[in-house]
This record gives sequence, C-alpha cells and structure tokens, in this order.
Amino acid sequence: MKKFSLIIPVYNEEQVLDELVTRTVKAVESFTDNYEIIFVDDGSTDNSLKKLLSLRKTNNKIKILVLSRNFGHQAAYTAGLEHAAGDVVAMMDGDLQDPPELLPDMYRKIINEGLHVVSARKTGRKGKKGRNILFFFFHLFFRNTAEIKNIENAGNFSMMTRKAIDAILLMKEKIRYLPGLRSFVGFNQGFIDYVREDRLYGKSKMSTRKLFQLAGDAIFSFSKFPIRLCFFLGLTGVTVFLLAGIYVLIAKILHFAIIGWSSILLSIYFLGSIQLIFLGILGEYVFRNYKESQNRPIYFVREFYGDESSPDHGT
Ligand code: UDP
Ligand code: MG
Repeated sequence: MKKFSLIIPVYNEEQVLDELVTRTVKAVESFTDNYEIIFVDDGSTDNSLKKLLSLRKTNNKIKILVLSRNFGHQAAYTAGLEHAAGDVVAMMDGDLQDPPELLPDMYRKIINEGLHVVSARKTGRKGKKGRNILFFFFHLFFRNTAEIKNIENAGNFSMMTRKAIDAILLMKEKIRYLPGLRSFVGFNQGFIDYVREDRLYGKSKMSTRKLFQLAGDAIFSFSKFPIRLCFFLGLTGVTVFLLAGIYVLIAKILHFAIIGWSSILLSIYFLGSIQLIFLGILGEYVFRNYKESQNRPIYFVREFYGDESSPDHGT
C-alpha cells in the first residue's frame, strides 16, 4: 500500500492547529491509514511547537520538523519534502486557506488518472481585496512571461508522486520558488479547481515585502523578461535617438530650429535614469548568482520528532 506524506509549514499558527489537525486527519484517513503529517515549525515564537507536541501525543503519525530559525515558507516546504518518506506527497499551507477536504480528490486524481502532479488552481480568492489584486496581476504576468508550461493560477497547495518529488529535490538551487520548480519537472500534470478561503485566525505571515521578494524570485528564476526588457528598451532608445539625431542635424543645417538646453537636459536625465534602472536589474542577476555560489544550506534542523513508535522521540 502506498505511503502518503503531507507537509505543512507553520509559523506562529497556534490558534489554528487544533482545527487544522482535526480536519486534516479526517480528510487523510478517508483515503489511507498509511500516512504521516510532517509539520515544519519554521522558527515559531508563539506556542505552536508546544501545541504540535501535544497533538503528536494523540497521534504519532504527526511528525514535527523544527528548524533552527525562521527561514521562510519555501525553505520550510523544502525541508519537509526532504524528510518525507511517502510514495505520494502533498504540500498544504497551515492556516486552513487550503482546505484539507480537497486532499481525497487530489489523491484520487493521482491514483486513478496516472498523474504525477496535481496542483490546486485558484478560481477565486476570499480575503483582502488589495492583496488579491496583486496576486491576480502577478499570476497573469508570470503565466505570460515564464518559460515553463503548466504554470496556472496555482500556489503551493499540490500533491505529487515520488518521481516528481525526487526530480524537484534534484534541483539544488538556493533561491526556490516551488510552484515554478513543480511545473518545470514536467511528467503528467493536472489541476483541481478551488476557491481559496480567507485566513481563519491571525494575520498573514507573508508581509507585502516578503510577497514581492517571492514574486521577484519567481520572475528572475523562470523568465528572461528582466534582461530582455533592458535589451528591447535599449534597442528602442537607439532607434528613437537615431531619428532625433537626424532631425537635429537637418535642423542645424537648414537653420530652421534652435534646440534649447531643456531638451539636452531632459535627454541626459532620461538616459541617466534608464541606465540606473538597468544597472539595478543587472545587479539583481549578479546578487542572485552570488547567493547561489555561496552554496549555503537552505535550512538547518534543530529537532526532528519523526519516530512513529514513540511520540516524545526527537533527534
Ligand atoms: N509560513 C512559514 N514561514 C514563514 C511565513 C509563513 O512557514 O516565514 C507558513 C505559514 O504558517 C502558513 C504558510 O506558510 O502555513 C503560508 O503563509 P501565509 O498564510 O502567511 O501566506 P499567505 O497565505 O498570506 O500567502
Ligand atoms: Mg495563508
């Protein structure tokens, strides 16, 4: 019988954990008894870990991977994936925005339709309007510029077979955008549609700054758009200034116009700022290259409570 692993990253989610575990265990046990739920505690500073440890006492299929500090949810998911033993592995947020009740359908799709990857595609979002508009534009932009297939309106919520997971884990890059990596590996990919719930408790742990950072990681990792933008704007600039140059020359020769200092100043300012922007974009590439070449581990593990025979056991 296939083993099923579910990875849930948790960063200060103490309020939601009881309900999360109740609903998740019920959903998972509707299709298998051979499972593990790996909570990755991403450096929580509230009572999340205590809560998880007490939940583990009631069900030793709940495992807890405690990271040494907060590394961000892409690192936390990666840590979970690396510790999962399942033949089928799912990733789900720990704030009940991803309803666990979808897991049985996703599992059925994997088993019955021979898929390797099932991503949950959002057909709508509840919650804050402003943020949802940002998400909408990001996905629209990313779908149209990323050089990968099957990148729909999907985030982390997904289920994969061992083959797909192993492929994802072979990609050792440090700057990780898992929804992109998941599409990149190929295999048979499918989708399940859902409306993303609002958070039940607490505030989003992804600040707007962190979200922009993640969007940047996605765009710089999976599309050539930023560097192409420099090239095409440069090309447009050359064309425009060539035409302007010809005009100025003709004007000079025929004495029909006096080009004033304001036009000179404006073009200097314009060119100067465009060059600064391009330097910024190039800088992003250099910085990301540097980050990768430092080759630091993506996360450190403080403790792994992963023994099914004794709930207290940690390493
Ligand atoms: N999370 C995490 N580390 C972080 C930020 C978030 O492990 O640094 C977890 C968080 O507990 C939640 C999931 O990742 O289970 C998604 O985060 P959140 O709900 O804050 O993001 P949003 O849904 O607003 O994009
Ligand atoms: Mg959330």
